[in-house]
Amino acid sequence: MDDIPSEDGSAGTRTAGRHLNAGLHPESLVVSAGRPAPGPDVPVNQPVVLTATYHAGGPRGYARAGNDTSAAFEDAIGALEGGLATSFASGMAASSALIESLPTGSVLVLPTSFYNHHRTLFDAQVELGRLSLRPVDTTDTDTVITALDGAALLWLELPTNPMLTVADLPALATEARARGVRTVVDATLATPLGLRPLDHGADVVMHSATKWLAGHSDVISGVLVARDRDLAQRIATRRNLTGAIPGALESYLALRGLRTLAVRMERACANTAVLAGRLREHPAVTGVHYLGFADHPQADLVAKLLGHHGAVLSFTTDSVQRADDLCRRVELITHATSLGGVESLIERRGAYPGEVSQGTPAELVRFSVGIEHVEDLWSDLAQALS
Ligand SMILES: *Cc1c(COP(=O)(O)O)cnc(C)c1O
Repeated sequence: MDDIPSEDGSAGTRTAGRHLNAGLHPESLVVSAGRPAPGPDVPVNQPVVLTATYHAGGPRGYARAGNDTSAAFEDAIGALEGGLATSFASGMAASSALIESLPTGSVLVLPTSFYNHHRTLFDAQVELGRLSLRPVDTTDTDTVITALDGAALLWLELPTNPMLTVADLPALATEARARGVRTVVDATLATPLGLRPLDHGADVVMHSATKWLAGHSDVISGVLVARDRDLAQRIATRRNLTGAIPGALESYLALRGLRTLAVRMERACANTAVLAGRLREHPAVTGVHYLGFADHPQADLVAKLLGHHGAVLSFTTDSVQRADDLCRRVELITHATSLGGVESLIERRGAYPGEVSQGTPAELVRFSVGIEHVEDLWSDLAQALS
């Protein structure tokens, strides 16, 4: 009986501070949400709770159904997104919980170019005979709408990684809803400070919390947020059944990282704006993808939907060799995969077969801009590009 899914879902018993959080700006919520209810000598921060089970009689019972530390992180993300959050062992575990709960035979509408491990995950479902895929250019709204007929799920990534395209989420979510199609938005690159997809009609928001939310490249974590209580409950039940729960220490680190999300993003986005402009002028750089350019192909949607221009940019160099040399020569910037940490990370995305097969140019470099001094970052890039 110890593994019956909690009736109460992921949120567990935590409701502390909710009344205080109503109406706050996100810059305040990242600091204030997910703290224990105040009281004499109650800790100000949610402690790491290491337990596999709880005394009987509560809604949780067993820690696969939820943990106090991960529930605090979920409260904070739920407050930021305007929904009920369930956290997972990784972003991929979160995505898998959604995809594997689709009935066999379901049709998934997805971007032709997006986070390539998601494509690999979806392709694996096709190989199992479980799902069929309709890849579409998600910036082409009419084509997406045509593809929605008979589909079960519309998967969007906003903005896409690494090409930084932006889909018309409000229009697509409305059309999807009218056809009984659920809309999921991977908003990892936007963060809740840049976009609240549930406000624009999405049913579920997905984040790799590994990236900006935790923000220090020291934890793997993922989260799903739904506004509909039933759907959130089903997600929490799914997590309990498949067991892809986050560890308490990871949840602590994710929440600890979240506290500084707003100031980290402010600096990283400001750095990115400067570096994008300078890279565009560099003779060895043939093209820069950046949400803040006035000539971004979806500049109108960027202005309408996004609260910031992000701290990821990508660019092509005049040769694959140049891109590889750049990654090898950087000193302050780290040559490593991933994004969203305080430290700047760079890699040639075009080196991955899964990227090339979805159209990413071989010489495309992705640059996750950190919070270092912008002039030090530029000096490093300039010497590595020369
Ligand atoms: C990293 C990433 C993921 C996967 O998340 P993990 O935490 O690495 O499992 C999903 N989507 C995007 C956009 C990502 O950048």
